[in-house]
Amino acid sequence: MIGSGLDLAATVSGTLSPGAAALITDSRVSSLHSASAVAALEEAGWWVTGVFEFPAGETSKSLDSYGDLVRRLARSGLGRDGTVFALGGGVVGDLGGFVAATYARGVDLVMLPTTLLAMVDSSVGGKVGVDLPEGKNLVGAFARPRLVAANLDWLSTLPERELRNGLAEVIKMGLLAGGRFFDDLSLIPRAAAGDPAALETLVLHSVRFKAGVVAEDEREGGRRAILNYGHTIGHGLEAAAGYAMPHGEAVSLGMAAEARLSRERLGADLVSLHEDLLGSAGLPIRAPALNPDAVLTAMGRDKKRRAADAADTYRFVLLEGVGAPRWDIPVQAEEARRAMEAIVA
Ligand code: NAD
Ligand code: ZN
Repeated sequence: MIGSGLDLAATVSGTLSPGAAALITDSRVSSLHSASAVAALEEAGWWVTGVFEFPAGETSKSLDSYGDLVRRLARSGLGRDGTVFALGGGVVGDLGGFVAATYARGVDLVMLPTTLLAMVDSSVGGKVGVDLPEGKNLVGAFARPRLVAANLDWLSTLPERELRNGLAEVIKMGLLAGGRFFDDLSLIPRAAAGDPAALETLVLHSVRFKAGVVAEDEREGGRRAILNYGHTIGHGLEAAAGYAMPHGEAVSLGMAAEARLSRERLGADLVSLHEDLLGSAGLPIRAPALNPDAVLTAMGRDKKRRAADAADTYRFVLLEGVGAPRWDIPVQAEEARRAMEAIVA
């Protein structure tokens, strides 16, 4: 359920019978939105056993926070028939979702995404989990929420940089989808400025598109891989920067480089289209400090690589045209390096 001014109490009541609810959220979102969420749940007849908060930020998506949360749930007496409500961005959704998938061998999960990234991406598709010091998202599960409810008003408190982060995924999906979704990417500048109608249109397109892709291939045996467009180099950039670079900015740069690979390999010249769209969201298309060798090294450690591939071969999603992605395309390190060199500022 997606909408401006979404009535959370009515939305939850329309889908689920009330019971015991544990609200998991982070310190930042809690101060902004947990009181109204608790009030809505109580209005809908739920018994809120507690607001389980952890410090905001990716470093909380850890086994330590996971252990801490499940123990706090146990001490609160939440039973198997309880429901976890995860109120927050992708970190809360991934961590809270993993708690719901595993606590008491699994309790019901409701996602209440509050960042644009969580609304368009992480709350759709059932992947939940935590990071290890050895790598991001290395421990996790597939967990289907009973309900995902996104009140677009929550975005009004989101910092502009976080909004742009989510827009990188929206642009990615519009390029993959083509059609009306792609045409509506003309709304990106308005969405970047916080226009609710533009945001609503783009969130709806994104959720429909991602849900459609995931429904066909939940476990990523094939086509779900297209969602990694811009992410092969993007993840390499993030890892090489020690995760100091925001994900959306890394994906933006990744798409700028991978558009060049698409041109080389598939003959589709979408480079200036990418630059215009990403630029219209205020996202970067040039990286001053990019070190292609460090990025290639980080790409070599990616968990999505195939064991059978040669050390200098990487698998890419490339675009044959707007709305025409191809996946699993082997690319040599040398070609990937040239594509990255082209985006060094
Ligand atoms: P996040 O959850 O850390 O949120 C970003 C920041 O915004 C945090 O400081 C948060 O407290 C704050 N915030 C959240 N909502 C707010 C609001 N309404 N107003 C003001 N501040 C608010 O980060 P994110 O970008 O939402 O998510 C990133 C995470 O999502 C990563 O861990 C990534 O791995 C994961 N992810 C998962 C999937 C999936 O399929 N499961 C897909 C994409 C990304
Ligand atoms: Zn992403």
